[in-house]
Amino acid sequence: SMKSQWQIIEEQLDELVQASRRHAAFGAVPRYIPELASAPAEALGITICDLEGRTVSSGDCGLSFTMQSISKVFTLLLALMDNGEDGVFARVGMEPSGDDFNSMLKLELVEPGKPFNPLINAGAIAVTALIHGDTPEAKSARIAAFFRTLAGGSDLTCNESVYLSEKRTAHRNRSLAYFLMDNDVLDPSTDVEELLDVYFRHCAIEATCADLARMALVLASGGIDPDSGAQLVPRRYVQIAKTFMSSCGMYNASGEFAIQAGIPAKSGVAGGILALVPGRYGIGVIGPALNRKGNSTAGVHLLERLSQAHEWSMF
Ligand code: GLU
Repeated sequence: SMKSQWQIIEEQLDELVQASRRHAAFGAVPRYIPELASAPAEALGITICDLEGRTVSSGDCGLSFTMQSISKVFTLLLALMDNGEDGVFARVGMEPSGDDFNSMLKLELVEPGKPFNPLINAGAIAVTALIHGDTPEAKSARIAAFFRTLAGGSDLTCNESVYLSEKRTAHRNRSLAYFLMDNDVLDPSTDVEELLDVYFRHCAIEATCADLARMALVLASGGIDPDSGAQLVPRRYVQIAKTFMSSCGMYNASGEFAIQAGIPAKSGVAGGILALVPGRYGIGVIGPALNRKGNSTAGVHLLERLSQAHEWSMF
């Protein structure tokens, strides 16, 4: 009898993880946030879940790690729900930048100060500023509650030592934020240090592969909670988020990843990758050793192999 794709994934996942794990040796853990340097560089783990409620995991999937830039996809969704499209895109653009994630280049071009897109740091900081809440604590609490809902009620919390480690060393993000303030991309009433605090806290939210896979599954289903059937996020906003993931989700390697894997994905500097196959799967990957573009070396290899084996490319 014909095997289902799910059966083949289950049968072959361990082998694929073993083969991809070797690629960790070609990468390195990042050092610019000191606390991230202690992650196990050789680790690789993955969880895949589908809309019928099945889950398969392999490798070091028990590892917890901070979401870092992966959180930007979800703060974008919350900012869209709080402000609508016009409100968000008055402050941030829709184009890939072709520069590093924390780049200061090009911020002066086109419209002065307006960041190219919501997934580079400057854009993500501008988006975080749009999230509603009376105090920074209230904003952080709303963000964490939203993330937990998408993760199926998982108890996601901020890793305080990673948060503090970034806060102490974030000279570049701090200068980006003040630059945005100087260019009126931020509201004049913004307290920049408080804004940065909200940003560092959502970057430091800790998750597992299973949490990322569950969050990705909501995106794969167009914003619908796979358990309750409730529309958690308007379909249009999910479409916007998936488009940014496809064009800018893997930093400066987004074009190459689109060719090799062809699925929406977002990586973070802690080595996580959240990916999805529209209408089918949510995927969470962790592999802390990063390549020069800032993506998990082993994680990228694993996702490319999986996508090619199962012809997941949307293109
Ligand atoms: N918190 C990190 C930063 O702002 C996130 C970067 C990333 O994951 O790309 O530098």
